[in-house]
Amino acid sequence: MSNLLVNMKDQEFILLEQLKIFSLFETERFRQFSIDDVSIFLKEAEKMAVHSLLPTYKKGDEEGCLLRDGKVTVPKCFHSAFRAYIENGWLLANKPVEVGGLGMPQVLAKACMEICYAANFPLLMYTGLINGAGGIIEAFGTENQKRRFMCPMYEGKWGGTMCITEPWAGSEVGAIRTVAKKLPNGQFLVYGTKSFISCGDHDLVENIVHLVLARIEGDLIRLVGLIASSEGKRIVRGEKVGTIEGAEDLGRQLAQDLLAKGGAEILQEVYR
Ligand SMILES: Cc1cc2nc3c(=O)[nH]c(=O)nc-3n(C[C@H](O)[C@H](O)[C@H](O)COP(=O)(O)OP(=O)(O)OC[C@H]3O[C@@H](n4cnc5c(N)ncnc54)[C@H](O)[C@@H]3O)c2cc1C
Repeated sequence: MSNLLVNMKDQEFILLEQLKIFSLFETERFRQFSIDDVSIFLKEAEKMAVHSLLPTYKKGDEEGCLLRDGKVTVPKCFHSAFRAYIENGWLLANKPVEVGGLGMPQVLAKACMEICYAANFPLLMYTGLINGAGGIIEAFGTENQKRRFMCPMYEGKWGGTMCITEPWAGSEVGAIRTVAKKLPNGQFLVYGTKSFISCGDHDLVENIVHLVLARIEGDLIRLVGLIASSEGKRIVRGEKVGTIEGAEDLGRQLAQDLLAKGGAEILQEVYR
């Protein structure tokens, strides 16, 4: 075992012997990868984890996040590690080359992430949410939304959140009460209470894009996914990115979809 974070011999065994990842490299999509790349990428991830992320873990815990004069700051040492992570391509390791990613198969990217998360989970929450929230816009947003929201997120300039949970709706997502009222101009007025929203405010980025799950006013069946855009981190406007039909048993359905597809794919129709 080369470090105390993750047993990398186990990782290589699982990827190569058990999952036979090389069969993916025979497909058109991952043709540019070879077996050698598996250990190369894992070693690079280890370098990032051990040299850039791990040293910020204890320091970051000691300093903590602060809310002062209405502004949230993360530990100072997080800033350089966050930038190094993005500059080395890890933010978009699992994303296609067309959107600026490294184009890795998810399974390899996840193995690399395992090492990084083990080094500093709190810091990786910020990048994980940019990757996930940006991924929803990538999958379901219009070209215009991708340009305005996804691109700055993928460049690491903007952050992202997933605003799903409410004080009375955790596992049972279908119990949410946040309402999206459609205005005559096609925009939505959103009101309600969300709780536990990770990375909702911080100073690692210039701006934060909030993906909000709400119930269309007067509609007990459908939920709507919205992008709440902001200026200087104050939410000013929301846009619809999709609806989920047949939400009678949404808690279970969502859980299944989340498990099967990683969260982003639950928004089914895409229009503004
Ligand atoms: C650190 C942290 C970060 C978070 N970040 C976000 C975020 O960014 N965005 C967001 O929207 N939410 C976020 N959450 C909220 C998280 O998604 C919820 O905590 C989660 O969905 C569980 O909901 P709950 O806490 O209300 O617990 P409950 O749903 O009340 O569950 C309590 C317990 O009951 C069990 N339980 C619930 N339903 C069933 C059932 N049907 N059968 C058997 N057992 C059941 C659960 O397993 C659990 O043990 C975060 C939570 C934490 C702790």
